[in-house]
Amino acid sequence: MPEQNTSESIFGQMNAFGHQKIVFCNDPDSGLKAIIAIHDTTLGPALGGTRMWAYKTEADALNDVLRLSKSMTYKAAVAGLNLGGGKAVIIGDARKDKTEALLRKFGRFIKNLNGEFITAEDVGTNPRDMEFIRMETQYVMGVPETIGGSGDPSPITAQGVFMGIKAAVKELYGNDTLAGRSVVVQGIGHVGENLTRLLRDENAMVYVSDINEERTVQVAKKYGAKAVSNNTIFDIDADIYSPCALGATINEQTINKLKFAIIAGSANNQLEDEYIHGRMLLEQGVLFAPDYVINAGGVINCYSELMGFSKKRTLQLTENIYEATRNVLKLSKAENISTIEAANKIAEKRISDIKKVKSTY
Ligand code: NAD
Repeated sequence: MPEQNTSESIFGQMNAFGHQKIVFCNDPDSGLKAIIAIHDTTLGPALGGTRMWAYKTEADALNDVLRLSKSMTYKAAVAGLNLGGGKAVIIGDARKDKTEALLRKFGRFIKNLNGEFITAEDVGTNPRDMEFIRMETQYVMGVPETIGGSGDPSPITAQGVFMGIKAAVKELYGNDTLAGRSVVVQGIGHVGENLTRLLRDENAMVYVSDINEERTVQVAKKYGAKAVSNNTIFDIDADIYSPCALGATINEQTINKLKFAIIAGSANNQLEDEYIHGRMLLEQGVLFAPDYVINAGGVINCYSELMGFSKKRTLQLTENIYEATRNVLKLSKAENISTIEAANKIAEKRISDIKKVKSTY
């Protein structure tokens, strides 16, 4: 058989992203069509959420799972966790196609991996779905607290983002006090609302914005923040922009409009193009706290559940995000590279160091 290792072939894509294993899960009876991607297990079992999404094509689903699982490897590495990176996608509409049978069948595929992959909730899945998966396998985190899980990770994620914001403020202004600093929080969902509370507790001036205008007004009132319209946020003169809604908000259309000194939020993949926009922010003197470094609270929460850590230990690990962010920002400055390149370098070094440790007796 001729060797086919182009960027379109599956093995070619695995090589390009550096993946170890892909599992295609197919079950016509329940309608399950899922892909589990295990990127790298040097540091520990691959942990990552299961996303359910109505992908237009199977190629789109594969591309998404490869991209997301790789970023989980980097997130766990920088957070100092003994976890590798993985992710799963279920192809389908979460509102119509999700059934107990489908989720339990998916759980059996995870069970057969014997702990090499551990999952949790993501877009299109929720703690109730994790309960169905748990009926078939123990390798699922983020189940409700009532059945021994760690519950909603959002308050922990918000705490981590808050530590990341403080680290960036320290880098830029010499101290990390937030009183008097102004922050635009875009997306007042689970993470955004908790973050707003933490910022207001430190007397930061907070602007909140969401596509759900009613909710924006409610949250603003509850915490003493200022409600702003979503399409005017780039006109606001604030110190910090905290994207907590969707990714790719730093793109060709927005990057030249930015007036903020710092970007630090929970949304995944905030830069439309990691390399190009990371460099542009460096040149513009905008301090970008890399998303996967400061939004690691969710994965820390799952790791704690896996290890049986107390809430206190979970919080300690989350507070380490301050130091992790400081290290990234220092390396970026020392080597004049973008902050995302600095974070990637730190992640890759830890993985390669531990690989050597594990290869010796
Ligand atoms: P969520 O769905 O609870 O909240 C998202 C909010 O953003 C919603 O209120 C929604 O109305 C709003 N929104 C959607 N599109 C918007 C737009 N274009 N402009 C303004 N607001 C918009 O989600 P969440 O759990 O709070 O997560 C927020 C982000 O953080 C997501 O990107 C998620 O992937 C990421 N993240 C979350 C966690 C976690 O623990 N929840 C962990 C890591 C990363």
